[in-house]
Amino acid sequence: MSLSLPPSSLSRRSALLGALGVGVGAMVPILSATDAHAYSTTVTANYPVLREGSSGVAVRIVQGITRAAVDGQFGPGTKSAVITFQRNRGLVADGIVGAATWGALLNTVRSGDNNNIVRGVQARLYITVDGAFGPATYSAVVSYQRNNGLTADGIVGPNTWARMVGASSGSTGSTGPVGTSPRKLYTNGRLPSSALASVGFGVWRLSTYCVNDFKAMNAAFKATFGTNLPISSGSSSAYRTYDEQVYFWNLYLSGQGNLAARPGTSNHGWGLAVDIGVAPYGSTKYNWLNANAGRWGFNDDVSGEPWHWAYQR
Ligand SMILES: [Zn+2]
Repeated sequence: MSLSLPPSSLSRRSALLGALGVGVGAMVPILSATDAHAYSTTVTANYPVLREGSSGVAVRIVQGITRAAVDGQFGPGTKSAVITFQRNRGLVADGIVGAATWGALLNTVRSGDNNNIVRGVQARLYITVDGAFGPATYSAVVSYQRNNGLTADGIVGPNTWARMVGASSGSTGSTGPVGTSPRKLYTNGRLPSSALASVGFGVWRLSTYCVNDFKAMNAAFKATFGTNLPISSGSSSAYRTYDEQVYFWNLYLSGQGNLAARPGTSNHGWGLAVDIGVAPYGSTKYNWLNANAGRWGFNDDVSGEPWHWAYQR
């Protein structure tokens, strides 16, 4: 039996194949003509970099568009789908979704469109993923736009995409340091509570000089991995009082603790360092920090301590 139907008769063809017991999904091309347009890397420069190990809503978008299973976890199946996509587009086929791949993945979509990019919207909004931008998708997009202070026009363009992927705001989202460095104002380990601020979660505090940059870094991390930065347990993993420094110094001297700074000299005592559980070197989360933390002024400045990140502005 011949199936020489024109491409426009997709629904009829689908019904026919369905009646024949043939998988309908397989008939939808991996790349449709309307996928061909794309955004420049100027648009996607602040989008989160996703790779195997990443999780969260931005991963769902990638999975919807590349037709990987949609579960928000960037596993081997998603990586394989991304590599296939990159090969088809002539991109570096590394399985990592950076600015260039985001640009190739996305385009503006609206009512009446039917393609893989619409699948990304639907996966992100947790509605039926079928690629058809009909009334249900329009309604979900308008709701999302209203809830996020965006123009509620039902069109998914650069502004809506930026919010959906969790792009950092501004060039890097960095505020730069705020006020005067605590090194110039206070004694190490003896910062007044007015000079300290919560990192935004947990028990940890940092200097007000750097805490906004830390929060921006955490927001970008969360957009990529779906969780806050895994600061090491114990309140002294960020700001560390003088007495706490003495405690760690004594542990170090007795051979029971990690290398510790001489009391009164630790970056932690200025509220300018934070220990983050991303060890060992080469782990997915370490690599993300290593590639990105400098955008917010943080660097791992102690050799052999992949968890120690200090503010250097
Ligand atoms: Zn440390």
